[in-house]
Amino acid sequence: MTTINDIAVSSTEMGDRIERLGVVGRGPGGGLVRFLYDDAWRAATDLVEGWMRHAGLQVRRDAVGNVFGRLPGTTDGERTILTGSHIDTVRSGGKYDGALGIIGGIAALAALKERAGRPRRSLEVVAICEEEGSRVAGNLFGSRGMLGLTSTAETAQLTDADGIAVADMMTRVGLDPARVPTAARRDVDHFVELHVEQGPVLDDTGVQIGVVTGIAGLRHQLLTVCGRPDHAGATPMDRRRDALQGAAAMALMIDDVTRCSGSPAVATIGQLQVLPGSVNTVAERATFSLDLRHPSDPVRHRLLTEIAGHCRIIADRHGLAVEITDRWEEPAAQMDTGLQQLLADTADDSGVSWSSLPSGAAHDSQLWARHVPTSMIFVPSVGGRSHCEAEYTPLEDCVRGATMLARVLYRMAY
Ligand SMILES: [Zn+2]
Repeated sequence: MTTINDIAVSSTEMGDRIERLGVVGRGPGGGLVRFLYDDAWRAATDLVEGWMRHAGLQVRRDAVGNVFGRLPGTTDGERTILTGSHIDTVRSGGKYDGALGIIGGIAALAALKERAGRPRRSLEVVAICEEEGSRVAGNLFGSRGMLGLTSTAETAQLTDADGIAVADMMTRVGLDPARVPTAARRDVDHFVELHVEQGPVLDDTGVQIGVVTGIAGLRHQLLTVCGRPDHAGATPMDRRRDALQGAAAMALMIDDVTRCSGSPAVATIGQLQVLPGSVNTVAERATFSLDLRHPSDPVRHRLLTEIAGHCRIIADRHGLAVEITDRWEEPAAQMDTGLQQLLADTADDSGVSWSSLPSGAAHDSQLWARHVPTSMIFVPSVGGRSHCEAEYTPLEDCVRGATMLARVLYRMAY
């Protein structure tokens, strides 16, 4: 009779795989650039597919390029418990974000197969093709594919910065855009994702595992401030309608409003484009992005209304116009309470310290949680660093997270 303490993942294998996947797409600056359907993406999916085969899993790719490794169940084998994470990265990303959930998921299924044999319910690990929105505004394209929330038409419309349509990218990597609807599946009962925290809470407190309670909702907006281009030397200060000065005042106001609202509200302006972009011309147009997050949907909406109101006041004061466009909205998501309890109990039974915490970062789990009971396991991120080359989680913590994943899956599927 197997007990959960018999189930442990291979530390050497995990360490080796983190390093090997962690160089696929490494750019000259050191960070990873692994975007949807690019060459590094292709190499990475081939690599994890090989690891899934090595673990003795049944491997397949779906129509959007998600890669699955399946450990088929016996009595209730047509229903599936899915684990995994995304294989794409942000620009100059680190080697743990997304990758850990795939490597840990393969390690967990391999350990279960070896120590406990075939499960009752099928278990699958997935390398999700896209989550970050780095190349296209894919908005969780891989998970949406599995949930039947994308279409062939979308692949023709959605383009990257060079104007290349997702449909053309797919053809290039041997995927048929016409088959996109076939990626939808109805057999998934649960989604469980192992991920690095990407924030400082676990590292600061020395707690080993995070039981995620929910994921903050977010909205992405594009704010375009329009003024008038004028000569930098001949136009007196009081005659200017400087779009960049307006945008700068708005940026400071957004920071203020968000700070005043208190934690866990966060606002980020990560992109700014100034036109015409000459040193000796007053800015005619300044466009900037806004990423605003809060775990409470009503609070997030209230903050956005307040910010929009202040933007109009600032624009008026500077003789400018401002246009605010919504790019993406992802509502807050709650993780399944039963699965949170199961994870906490499993950690207790394993002598592993844990604490409950919300996720400020978006994840595939956010979308899954709206469709099936979903759970996330966090491991510490040293210094809270993520979405950069400095992202780091000690191997011991990665292995502990994957072992907790394996033990939770054991309790769910055997
Ligand atoms: Zn991630």
